[in-house]
Amino acid sequence: MKDSATLVDYLVIGSGIAGLWFAWKADRNKRILIVTKKDSPESNTNYAQGGIAAAVAENDAPRLHYQDTVRVGSGLAHPDVVTLVTAAGPRLVRELWDLGIKFTTRRETDGKVEFDLGQEGGHRRRRIVHARDATGFEIEQGLLKAVRARGDVTIWEEHLAVDLLIDEERKCCGADVLDKSTGELKRVYARFCLLATGGVGQVYRHTTNPAIATGDGIAMAYRAGARIANMEFIQFHPTTLFGHRINDRVFLISEAIRGEGAVLKTIDGKDFMPAYHPDGSLAPRDVVARAIATELARRGEEFVLLDCTSIEPSKLRERFPNIYKTCLSFGIDITRQPIPVVPAAHYVCGGIVVNTWGETSIKRLFAAGECACSRLHGANRLASNSLLEALVFAERAAMKANEEIVEEESISFERLGGGDRISFIKEAGHDKQAVIDELLNRLRNLMWYYAGIVRSDSGLREADVQLARMAAELERFIPKNISIPILELRNMITVAKLIVACASRRPESRGLHYNQDHPFPDERFERDTVVSKDDLGFVV
Ligand SMILES: Cc1cc2nc3c(=O)[nH]c(=O)nc-3n(C[C@H](O)[C@H](O)[C@H](O)COP(=O)(O)OP(=O)(O)OC[C@H]3O[C@@H](n4cnc5c(N)ncnc54)[C@H](O)[C@@H]3O)c2cc1C
Repeated sequence: MKDSATLVDYLVIGSGIAGLWFAWKADRNKRILIVTKKDSPESNTNYAQGGIAAAVAENDAPRLHYQDTVRVGSGLAHPDVVTLVTAAGPRLVRELWDLGIKFTTRRETDGKVEFDLGQEGGHRRRRIVHARDATGFEIEQGLLKAVRARGDVTIWEEHLAVDLLIDEERKCCGADVLDKSTGELKRVYARFCLLATGGVGQVYRHTTNPAIATGDGIAMAYRAGARIANMEFIQFHPTTLFGHRINDRVFLISEAIRGEGAVLKTIDGKDFMPAYHPDGSLAPRDVVARAIATELARRGEEFVLLDCTSIEPSKLRERFPNIYKTCLSFGIDITRQPIPVVPAAHYVCGGIVVNTWGETSIKRLFAAGECACSRLHGANRLASNSLLEALVFAERAAMKANEEIVEEESISFERLGGGDRISFIKEAGHDKQAVIDELLNRLRNLMWYYAGIVRSDSGLREADVQLARMAAELERFIPKNISIPILELRNMITVAKLIVACASRRPESRGLHYNQDHPFPDERFERDTVVSKDDLGFVV
């Protein structure tokens, strides 16, 4: 084990916006290693469409951005965190621009830039800085280029972090990392570690998240004993294309299309939204997602329809070229046919608890981005606040680590607990893969129906029982050899159990968590749901 050990100053797990921004902000002359489980750009960041929220307009101010964030957070957005993040927005957008990230502008004269600002639900001002409908791709490419140009950052692609190394003083000392191409397990010792592993969407039957979003960082932190919070607050996007997947994720049908007049209907053509909200198909995101889920459950159907045919065809093609082309590639001409749509898991507001410096409850372990719970979003996320949050906390984590790093200190390998050596196989093998696929399907359906958009006490209890059973099944059929699909499944079951545990501890409805047995907010629960291995007791 020691032979293949690597010693670095900073180990960054994940190459989305949070991991890359941390690396960019880390001190020069340090050994920085980024490990990432696919090729570098593959991340939720890469698919972000709308943009990044920042109060840059003349008629806007961080104070107004603060008010919108707190209002949407339904009593749980922490004011100090919201102040910090909204105040940093304009500076960070400018820094990205100076780094060469090409946001769409209205005017650029004498170094003065006027960004073209989008409007999204919940924001009372135009404040979404974007690069057309590919903001995440532009940011990911720009940051990768900048980080690579530093010359002192090593990136290991196709390397999956398996577990954190924790010494007897409960400090994080690195991670075990699996080289996916050789099957070799490498031990990386690090003075500081950042978890930037993104979201958890893959635990649900329908998700906008790519295949990497299996909640690995949250599961690793939980196993290591870190505090986890607010996992019940999962944001579901109401309209994604039903029945067609692109690399394990569904295709998003933008809210803007409803803004232009598209109407949600049941399969038999009934305009059902007015019965749920006076704004009909243009009601807020969580209301629409809930209404669709209720209709589907009531009617026993799998999708509803989004009818765009009242919109002028030339306008549809011109305004939504990507949606038009993608739907057409699946045989749906949206100028003439309604689009089958279903809500999909989109974003997790909870995660690894961090303070305002991105520090977790484990020493030397930081977390930032979607895997962290900074308490910015509270019970509901204001659109386009997540990219900004990732920047703020990755930067502050880097500042803190830069300040604390002690050059002379050497980490004694002997002091570190080694843990059992596990043997890895690259492929699960035909028979095992079939069992994994079956378990995965069961997990995703279970989470969709019992811990999805509309929850109930009995559903959550049933989910808990079934998840315990799945965990036992997983354990039984992997006596020695562990493959990548099994590692990811273990993490997904862990994360699913955390979502169910947090949801069960909130017998009320607030923000993104709706329990039909307790349909209203209850002020007794106006607090974060914080859990850890010590109080939940389970390890998958
Ligand atoms: C379709 C879509 C549209 C969105 N639109 C917007 C938007 O307009 N505005 C907005 O603010 N937010 C948006 N979001 C949310 C936002 O994109 C994410 O919250 C944000 O990009 C998360 O960044 P991150 O760096 O935390 O994680 P990610 O960008 O997901 O990066 C995670 C990284 O960790 C790696 N990783 C994971 N597990 C391991 C492991 N075990 N070992 C090694 N590496 C690992 C992954 O390979 C990846 O490199 C959108 C999300 C989606 C899916």
